[in-house]
Amino acid sequence: MSTVFSKIIAREIPADIVYEDELVLAFKDIAPAAPVHILIIPKREIATVNDITPDDEPALGRMFTVARQIAQDAGIAADGYRLIVNCNHHGGQEVWHLHMHLVGGRRLGRMLARPQ
Ligand code: 5GP
Repeated sequence: MSTVFSKIIAREIPADIVYEDELVLAFKDIAPAAPVHILIIPKREIATVNDITPDDEPALGRMFTVARQIAQDAGIAADGYRLIVNCNHHGGQEVWHLHMHLVGGRRLGRMLARPQ
């Protein structure tokens, strides 16, 4: 089932696109959680990490090399940043087109809240 991200790939709805090639697209998150918050997605509609196949490995690898380049270009590589891929409801996934969040530009703190 198509999502809003497929519409962004097709230019049916606007997005602030920062990178595109034949395998992946990267654009600014509409509700940024930090000064830098970019979403990097495969162009193929992969719903979740559970739906990845070996054929997706080139696109998934590209997502990391694009993340590295965007972080460098944004000037946050040395200080550091976080890459997040949420999967399904317990993971907090809301858009059913696999995506990597690149988040940085401030100290992000612990990765997860520890149970009390
Ligand atoms: P998830 O919770 O699925 O890992 O993250 C989905 C992300 O997509 C959220 O951070 C949300 O702000 C972002 N998002 C949802 N709809 C749109 C949209 O139409 N445009 C953009 N640029 N980001 C979106």
